[in-house]
Amino acid sequence: MNCLEAQSYIMPFIEGKVPEHKQEEFVLHMKNCPKCHEELEIYYTLIVGMKQLDNQEELSSNFSRDLENKLNHLQNKVKGRRGIKVSTFALVCFSLIAVMIIFYEQCLNRVYAFEQETKRNNQSSYYFYRELNADLFLPALDRLETEREAEEKQTFTLYDKIKIYDAVTNAEQEIFDIGGVITRQ
Ligand SMILES: [Zn+2]
Repeated sequence: MNCLEAQSYIMPFIEGKVPEHKQEEFVLHMKNCPKCHEELEIYYTLIVGMKQLDNQEELSSNFSRDLENKLNHLQNKVKGRRGIKVSTFALVCFSLIAVMIIFYEQCLNRVYAFEQETKRNNQSSYYFYRELNADLFLPALDRLETEREAEEKQTFTLYDKIKIYDAVTNAEQEIFDIGGVITRQ
């Protein structure tokens, strides 16, 4: 706002009619431009003084102080409006973040459900495999016992080799199962 424009708002200011979008610039200019401030003070004293005389009110003892109060009042009004704008902005940001968090959690839940589903599917085929394997092929074997038997025999048939392999696999599986139980606890 230049001096000419600022001075054009002197009368509206005295009447309390500076447009909202010009209030901030007007106050800023009047507080920082001694020339315009002096002009404003002259008009303010003249017009407010005449009004007070017309209305047979008590004449103000300090027009300069009254003017500062009026300027400060307008400045606070502008600041208050900006505060509302900022809090609205903060509210919008907060809402956006909340929506994002909810969306993210939903995604996590979906991924979790998908993983659980996959795990369950894999487990069922895995369990069937184990059960069928145990029933159709060899019963559960003790690795140490099977090794001892094999050592005694000295000669290994293909069947013996399969038996030893199965016993070792069983033992491994047992270790994994125990490990699983321990980690779950
Ligand atoms: Zn000026």
